[in-house]
Amino acid sequence: MDHFLYKDGVLHAEDVPVAEIAAEVGTPFYVYSRATLTRHFRLFDEALDGMEHLVCYAMKANSNQAVLAVMAKLGAGVDVVSGGEYARAKAAGFPGERIVFSGVGKTVAEMEAALTGGIRQFNVESEPELARLSGVATRLGLTAPVTIRVNPDVDAKTHEKIATGKSENKFGIPISRARTVYAEAAALPGIEVVGIDVHIGSQLTDLAPFEAAYVKVAELTETLRADGHDIRRLDLGGGLGIPYERSNSAPPLPVEYGDVVRRTVGHLGCEIEIEPGRLIAGNAGLLVSEVIYVKSGEDREFLILDAAMNDLIRPAMYGAYHEIVPVIEAPAGAETTTYDIVGPVCESGDTFTKGRAMPSLAAGDLVAFRSAGAYGAVMSSEYNTRPLIPEVLVDGHQFAVIRARPTFDDIINRDTIPHWLEDPA
Ligand SMILES: *Cc1c(COP(=O)(O)O)cnc(C)c1O
Repeated sequence: MDHFLYKDGVLHAEDVPVAEIAAEVGTPFYVYSRATLTRHFRLFDEALDGMEHLVCYAMKANSNQAVLAVMAKLGAGVDVVSGGEYARAKAAGFPGERIVFSGVGKTVAEMEAALTGGIRQFNVESEPELARLSGVATRLGLTAPVTIRVNPDVDAKTHEKIATGKSENKFGIPISRARTVYAEAAALPGIEVVGIDVHIGSQLTDLAPFEAAYVKVAELTETLRADGHDIRRLDLGGGLGIPYERSNSAPPLPVEYGDVVRRTVGHLGCEIEIEPGRLIAGNAGLLVSEVIYVKSGEDREFLILDAAMNDLIRPAMYGAYHEIVPVIEAPAGAETTTYDIVGPVCESGDTFTKGRAMPSLAAGDLVAFRSAGAYGAVMSSEYNTRPLIPEVLVDGHQFAVIRARPTFDDIINRDTIPHWLEDPA
């Protein structure tokens, strides 16, 4: 459920008409709903009720500082995957003890920043990383709390680019090598093993792969405890999917996911961490765009929008589906047209969808892409020198720009011309 509803035929973000935001900030733009972000965090928090737990928002889904501030105020933890995200977490007010650090390629500089700034745990993904972290922590006279990410060789049954739990993926250590690697970790100076980490992929629409992975984690917990390790924390990753296409899919609810967690690892007495990103931010955001032209091709109609693949790359990158709706609701029985919906970028890949039946639209009309709050703005670029589009946060009747659109001069002035290229005076 989200807070983007039609009221009297006009699409609203909470209590604000979307067209009012468009008039103030210009199109295209992203708009997020604080109430929806809050609701989604609480659903996960309540789903783990009765178990000691921390919901660590995976900020790579949407790392705007205002979104992070919403999460920090709710008492969330946060999952970061780079030094930049770690800096964002600190700037948003997350204390070190609520920040977990994931990722296959942590650098020495990133380890130093997290160790000195405070960290709940590093989710270590390889033996070389373990050795390097031991070296950095020892040099600083600090101890690095770690979980080791195991790859359970489970098929997440999701898009190949976001599946991470099969043995052919680059993530984690093979679960079959876990005992060896935990023994190595226990012997290393500057390392304190606190638990196990797993994350099998994103946009999972079936609970069975989670269940299969968590059963393996439960078995491993018993084995490692028998080996003498103090396994007291389980980080179960993120990945629960959202209904991009509402008419034909109903992914499991957080409460059902929570039941899987309880059933598989609830008896172990471990503190549970989960790292949802998409489910918290995805349906909390719209991308709003204006129709520039309706163009008739040989055998089809093109709807040419002012948003493009550089603003929302998911359709081009993953063949992803987004619901696209008119901001002014079409009356019942209104005429529909089948469109190819495209942006202005000079690539055929800049196509949001093909053959989509929609209420007929005209130049100047506004449309909204639903489910655009996660992996939207964060993956955008300035390709074709199209400025990064503004982000707006709505809270009830109020809204604010939370990232402004840069001017052309802002963009141009980021580049510098070497003095030896300049014309002699
Ligand atoms: C991407 C990622 C997440 C979040 O995944 P969602 O599908 O957005 O919930 C969580 N943990 C790790 C390690 C990730 O890489």
